[in-house]
Amino acid sequence: MTYLTEFQKKIRTFLPEIELRFEEPMHQHTSFRIGGDAEVMAFPKNREELRQILKVSALLDTKPAILGAGTNVLAPDEGIAGLVICLKDCLDGLAQIGDTAIRVMAGVTMSRAAVYAANLGLAGLEFAHGIPGTVGGGVYMNAGAYGGELGQVCTQVEVMDYEGNQRTLCREELGFSYRHSALQDSGEIVLSACFSLTPGQPETIRDKMRELIGRRTASQPLNLPSAGSAFKRPANGYAAALIENAGLKGYRVGNAAISEKHAGFAVNLGGATAADVKSLLEQVSDRVFAQSGIRLEPEIRIW
Ligand SMILES: Cc1cc2nc3c(=O)[nH]c(=O)nc-3n(C[C@H](O)[C@H](O)[C@H](O)COP(=O)(O)OP(=O)(O)OC[C@H]3O[C@@H](n4cnc5c(N)ncnc54)[C@H](O)[C@@H]3O)c2cc1C
Repeated sequence: MTYLTEFQKKIRTFLPEIELRFEEPMHQHTSFRIGGDAEVMAFPKNREELRQILKVSALLDTKPAILGAGTNVLAPDEGIAGLVICLKDCLDGLAQIGDTAIRVMAGVTMSRAAVYAANLGLAGLEFAHGIPGTVGGGVYMNAGAYGGELGQVCTQVEVMDYEGNQRTLCREELGFSYRHSALQDSGEIVLSACFSLTPGQPETIRDKMRELIGRRTASQPLNLPSAGSAFKRPANGYAAALIENAGLKGYRVGNAAISEKHAGFAVNLGGATAADVKSLLEQVSDRVFAQSGIRLEPEIRIW
């Protein structure tokens, strides 16, 4: 019996109504618009459905891949054998906690969380407004921009392990550092996150968000598929400046290229493969290293 039939048979026993899609194209779920088919993709609507899916996967001795909005993932051309659990829009909900905090479910986009906070007159998430991922992916990645990072405002995170056990982690246990959280090491799944914010005027908060969106639109190649910054910021300098100084703006492998508009972005010019992007990132990293002695590491999660 294949994984697919086995999974389908078992999961239907526990969750007859669960939304499952088979041979689901990953390129439809990633901002890069790249990736072959996932054998099975599941869309749990709440934490109980997620728990049951994880338990069935554990029974089958497999570990599913977790997908948020797919805005930081390079999915393989050959597809994914087994299960992908998509949490975007699935784990949904936002709530105000006390006067100055909010709790946001993992599948909510960071932009929606920032607008929710602004409407409550709470400042601190303006930087996250233009980051196109979910709160779950954002906490996992410690997403940040323009001097802000989720780790600065995130106080508590509910997580689930691959056996379906749940626990709550406080800030100290989340080990936030630049584009890193302890969840990348533990592999636990974010269910929700609490953010501690500061009172502000909704209009002032919205003005700040508009200003930051303006800066993004002016500097980033938002008209082409990408996964955001291709490389992490190195200890000395900026990836984009190093790439530009190495003469690599516009450098192309197949249909993947370093953006002409922002050298920190690798873009899909149309029909790029994961192999194109991987080769592009390797070649750029090697050439920058040869020129500057600085080794660039991908920020994009290569599956
Ligand atoms: C145009 C553009 C601009 C961007 N700008 C920024 C920016 O300014 N700053 C920035 O930091 N990033 C930026 N990004 C990258 C991306 O949006 C962030 O990394 C974001 O946090 C990814 O969230 P996601 O939901 O899309 O995660 P995905 O891409 O779906 O997943 C990323 C990783 O997180 C894991 N993951 C996802 N959800 C969960 C969960 N609930 N629990 C545990 N693990 C999970 C996945 O397994 C994967 O390893 C940009 C991307 C694009 C396309």
